[in-house]
Amino acid sequence: MPTAIRYSLVIPVYNEEESLNKLYERVSKVIDQLDGPAEVILVDDGSRDRSFPMMRAIHERDPRFHALSLSRNFGHQMALTAGLDYARGEAIVTMDADLQDPPEVIFDLVKKWQEGNELVYAVRRSRDVDTIFKKYSAIAFYHILRKLASIEAPVNSADFRLVDRKVLLSFRKLREKNRYIRGLFSWLGYRQAEVYYDREARFAGETKYPFLKMLNLAFDAIVSFSSIPLKLCVSVGLAVAFISFLYGTWIIIAKTLSLETYISGWATLAVLMCFLGGLHMFLIGVLGEYLSRVYDEVRGRPLYLVSQILSDRALSNERTT
Ligand code: UDP
Ligand code: MG
Repeated sequence: MPTAIRYSLVIPVYNEEESLNKLYERVSKVIDQLDGPAEVILVDDGSRDRSFPMMRAIHERDPRFHALSLSRNFGHQMALTAGLDYARGEAIVTMDADLQDPPEVIFDLVKKWQEGNELVYAVRRSRDVDTIFKKYSAIAFYHILRKLASIEAPVNSADFRLVDRKVLLSFRKLREKNRYIRGLFSWLGYRQAEVYYDREARFAGETKYPFLKMLNLAFDAIVSFSSIPLKLCVSVGLAVAFISFLYGTWIIIAKTLSLETYISGWATLAVLMCFLGGLHMFLIGVLGEYLSRVYDEVRGRPLYLVSQILSDRALSNERTT
């Protein structure tokens, strides 16, 4: 009878061949010192470099490290989801593979967990290593998110956290396709706590979150947690109708009083038409964002597909949806 796993670490990996060995070194040192058996689930998110063969070597050297390989690149959030679906531990930690989240912080997370918290966020104390653009875009994003979506996740928390098994089981019930995992965890509730740390620079390689992907994640976050943009369409429509009513009234008064000023020529018309045309398209676009997400849901495709599992035993809690 194998001893029950106490800690699971879930680490998504996408083209991280330069970081993996160092990651192994630091993570294995940390899990050696934890107070119970641990497993590490490396999720290969369709890497094109040598990441997966390296994960195989790590698994052969140290069977506490398991590897899942997804059938293609499904994106960070899906890779995390896959790993979380396979995790067996009592407490589950998610972190990045590039060593920006120092594995040693896990001790602090565990301490807070043992104090009775069920969801412990690791929150960046500083963002000195990020580019100015990333720093300010992140600040703006969290600000908008709080306003629009009332997500209570602490500002500056990335996907580095510890969750209790209870929270994990609840999380597994949320199978939405466009996922913003930070928001989902915060939506779950439970007893939450924070731990502060300094985010390090990427150990090697470059960010896998270029501007467009970041924008997309931001959209997912806002659209899947808030219907305020939809309601704004109504307000904008009403406002435009009200303004044109005022303008119409003014024209009637001017005509009645025979003021010549009401004929302002074709330029006004052209500008108004362009403005209203643009506004319509924008508002239809907002509708489209919601509609396309509804479409994603009704198609009911699985969230990710696993092509290979490197593990000494079949992992429990296996799901493919
Ligand atoms: N990642 C992934 N799939 C992707 C992009 C990224 O699994 O499509 C992983 C990546 O290997 C890393 C983590 O997600 O472990 C965070 O990515 P990154 O460090 O590039 O993001 P940043 O820290 O720059 O926000
Ligand atoms: Mg990173």
